[in-house]
Amino acid sequence: MLPIIYSTINHSFHKTLPTYRKASRSPPLPRLSASYPPPISPISNHGCSSCRPLVRFRRDRGGRGPHGQLRGARGARVLLLERFDLLHHRGSSHGESRAIRDTYPQPHYPPMVRLARRLWDDAQRDAGYAVLTPTPHLDLGPRDDPNFRAVVASGATELAPTGTAPRPAWAEAFRVPEGWAAASSELGGVIKATKAVAMFQALAAKMGAVVRDRTEVIDVAKQGEGTKIVVKTSSGEKFHGAKCIITVGAWTSKLVKSVTGFDLPVQPLHTLLCYWKLKPGHKRELTTEAGFPTFSSYGDPCIYSTPSMEYPGLIKIAMHGGPPCDPDSRDWTIGTGEGVGGLADPVARWIDEVMPGHVDTAGGPVLRQACMYSMTPDEDFVIDFLGGEEFGRDVVVGAGFSGHGFKMGPAIGRILAELALDGESTTAAEAGVELTHFRIERFDGDPMGNATSS
Ligand SMILES: Cc1cc2nc3c(=O)[nH]c(=O)nc-3n(C[C@H](O)[C@H](O)[C@H](O)COP(=O)(O)OP(=O)(O)OC[C@H]3O[C@@H](n4cnc5c(N)ncnc54)[C@H](O)[C@@H]3O)c2cc1C
Repeated sequence: MLPIIYSTINHSFHKTLPTYRKASRSPPLPRLSASYPPPISPISNHGCSSCRPLVRFRRDRGGRGPHGQLRGARGARVLLLERFDLLHHRGSSHGESRAIRDTYPQPHYPPMVRLARRLWDDAQRDAGYAVLTPTPHLDLGPRDDPNFRAVVASGATELAPTGTAPRPAWAEAFRVPEGWAAASSELGGVIKATKAVAMFQALAAKMGAVVRDRTEVIDVAKQGEGTKIVVKTSSGEKFHGAKCIITVGAWTSKLVKSVTGFDLPVQPLHTLLCYWKLKPGHKRELTTEAGFPTFSSYGDPCIYSTPSMEYPGLIKIAMHGGPPCDPDSRDWTIGTGEGVGGLADPVARWIDEVMPGHVDTAGGPVLRQACMYSMTPDEDFVIDFLGGEEFGRDVVVGAGFSGHGFKMGPAIGRILAELALDGESTTAAEAGVELTHFRIERFDGDPMGNATSS
């Protein structure tokens, strides 16, 4: 059995996955029936043992190049296919920064963040350089906001009121509105996004994975006796193997629909990153070096920020969310204007209320960068087998990261890899990560998934 993996999902540990070889041309494969997918069976203990510990990576074709001599952690051989250029800016993982925090309204995320935090350290050690700068984290919001209350309950410590000790010096940057509260926690940080993706691509290649960009996957199917996965690209190439992981971000519902006929509710949203000028006298105070926190503000609008770091004198403060978009025909100017529909105006109003002494909103944001979310109706991830009679446990999907998946990238990648190789994730089980929240079957008969029960 020769597994396949394609795309760069979440810059994760593809090194644990299997290999590919080019398939001979074959006639078109039958489509799945409209009733797809049937209920997904529970994860069992039997994995794909034939995909397990191979020790030495060797290319099937092309002899033993330098990569062919490298050992993989599990010896699995991996092909990653990316539609655009590596490190492109057309998806969700580009840019200078992403925040990490382990305070969450939903209790199923903190264990995954803490697992990811350890794996970020492992990856940085393997790479020999840092992509994550630790900071504190601050949550703030209306006292009676259920999400804010749940976040505080998840481990944040409420700050003492202004003028009373002990308070960190950076707290003076915030004018917490009447009826609001603020709570700090230790696990925060800024991850350099594009640098982190590049790091994982380099680590994957070092471990023997084959990384191909400018290669668009247009179909995934089973072939022959149903033992091989065949991945077809827009240039007519075919690759086959035993396993495949689909991690195509905002393109997920399109690809899954064309492969299975099933509507996976992953809605692409256009969103905007905004950088604002710091007021004179405050440029150093709000930096990572000065210990300024990443922060999240609950209520409406939901605002997030990373400290001043990448552009001295500027701070990133942006709004969670944005309007629906088609990833293949984007209007790059959406939301960049003033007034109704603008994605910067609500942020400016929030800044003027909560950080008026430190951040300058006159003239709007100095820099804006478009990006995409891939939203599920409940904002929970999809981490599951594609299922159905055709794919069963041989194809795994990681998608719907709903604007908060980057921080957990290394954990998500590890879990996807174990699901593909073993049929279950021991890493998730050991870390207390409950995968039932991420199953596709939560949408069976209920388009809102977990949102209905929460
Ligand atoms: C502005 C913004 C701010 C964010 N801030 C945070 C934050 O502070 N903290 C946090 O944790 N998360 C944050 N996120 C969310 C996080 O960045 C995303 O959850 C994460 O990057 C999603 O990664 P992905 O792999 O699903 O998608 P992508 O990174 O888009 O990767 C999918 C890849 O699949 C490729 N692809 C698509 N179709 C095909 C095909 N047919 N064949 C081959 N390849 C294909 C695409 O080209 C793309 O490279 C933020 C997101 C945005 C947009």
